Amino acid sequence: MDDIISLCKRRGFIYQGSEIYGGLAGTWDWGPLGVALKRNIMNAWWRFFVENRDDMYGVDAAIIMNPAVWRASGHVATFADPLVEDLVTKKRYRADHLLKTAGIDVTGLTNDDLTKLIRDNKIKSPDGNELSEVRSFNMMFQTHVGPVSDESSVAYLRPETAQGIFTNYHNVVDSFYPDLPFGIAQQGKAFRNEISPRDFIFRSREFEQMEIEYFVDPENWEKEFDKLLKLAHEFLEKVMQLPAVKVHELDVPAADRAHYSKKTIDIEFDFPIGREELMGIAYRTDFDLGNIEREAKKSMEYRTKDGAKNFVPHVIEPSFGVERLVMAVLSAAYQTDEINGESRSVLRLPNNLVPVFATVSPLLKNKPELVAKAREVYEKLRETWPGRVNWDDSGNIGKRYRKADEIGVPHCIVVDFDSLEKDDVTARDRDTTKQERVKISELAKYLAS
Ligand code: ATP
Repeated sequence: MDDIISLCKRRGFIYQGSEIYGGLAGTWDWGPLGVALKRNIMNAWWRFFVENRDDMYGVDAAIIMNPAVWRASGHVATFADPLVEDLVTKKRYRADHLLKTAGIDVTGLTNDDLTKLIRDNKIKSPDGNELSEVRSFNMMFQTHVGPVSDESSVAYLRPETAQGIFTNYHNVVDSFYPDLPFGIAQQGKAFRNEISPRDFIFRSREFEQMEIEYFVDPENWEKEFDKLLKLAHEFLEKVMQLPAVKVHELDVPAADRAHYSKKTIDIEFDFPIGREELMGIAYRTDFDLGNIEREAKKSMEYRTKDGAKNFVPHVIEPSFGVERLVMAVLSAAYQTDEINGESRSVLRLPNNLVPVFATVSPLLKNKPELVAKAREVYEKLRETWPGRVNWDDSGNIGKRYRKADEIGVPHCIVVDFDSLEKDDVTARDRDTTKQERVKISELAKYLAS
């Protein structure tokens, strides 16, 4: 993990948020390569789950919503984690995390149970001090809307994108009247005031989600749940190309499920930090639409087109976290190997996700004829892979290859003196490190194959 974190910083994928001012815990900034990787992942998701299907509708709702949304959804009352305080340093920790680290099972326990376990097992803070009793800490970030900061102006930064979908369910049905089952999808920022953000971008306070609320006839929820679970695997294993052996399902026990869920399967991944939740699929019943009916006093009933049935649809929710997906993709791609006795680190990212698909270099940057020819090749390739071909004339060729391997560039193209005579280039492959001479006229076809 440390190697990946250091690579991410050094090569411009991910930086600590506000680093220049000493950082802000749980926030991260995306550098040029990180933005590209994240966008490729998010665009691939949007294409797979929304654009390539005719039962999905995209929305992009406001991040700050009427606080009634969060009262109705139960987040104001129950979106909380168990917190303990170090009685000496006053630092705060997740009680369940401290117990789990000590190898103690915390499935489905109340705050009182957790306090007892901490006392019985003599669990101390990481600084070795006594801990307070466990209490609940609401994770929503508060703000105020408008110029007056009082109780009446309190609003929240959304802790999940899901509610921006439920509040638009009625609008989408009015505008499109889709047949059931259908889904509404959204990508966007979510904010949680995590007690102890940790493990690089895995547990952040500001992160991005990609969620689908899939509306079904309650009679069919199990069938639709299984279909979406299968689809999630297909996305992770075929589109993200995560190794299937590292992807696992966890049927979350009732006591550990979110307050709205009747069934949840977490998809876990073998990260370098251990096996942890990558994403989840939850059966949310009619919990959310029912809350809206009650609080907003509007009917959320769906009338089938043949007029035979009227009901509030039930919901299956696949919920992906972008940061965790980026971490899974990076950790699956990161490898070290040895080439001609020299060790190298290489990101074997799949072609559909790599930030840079090819680099083009002149062998020597002080030879104008080589530079001109290489520029020609560069411009041509950019027409085929806009924004994904880089110019690189820094250092010597060996250094350029090492850098390209580290950021996962599948192809390095070098123009040398022979290129001027024969109209060809050297194309070097990231994975095999093999070099081949390829005619410039055939280069795009060669790289695409
Ligand atoms: P955890 O148990 O790890 O706190 P969760 O069960 O609370 O996660 P959900 O509420 O189901 O998470 O959120 C859906 C997805 O959003 C998660 O599977 C994860 O990918 C992502 N996610 C949740 N919290 C965070 C966070 N603090 N930082 C980054 N991603 C997160």
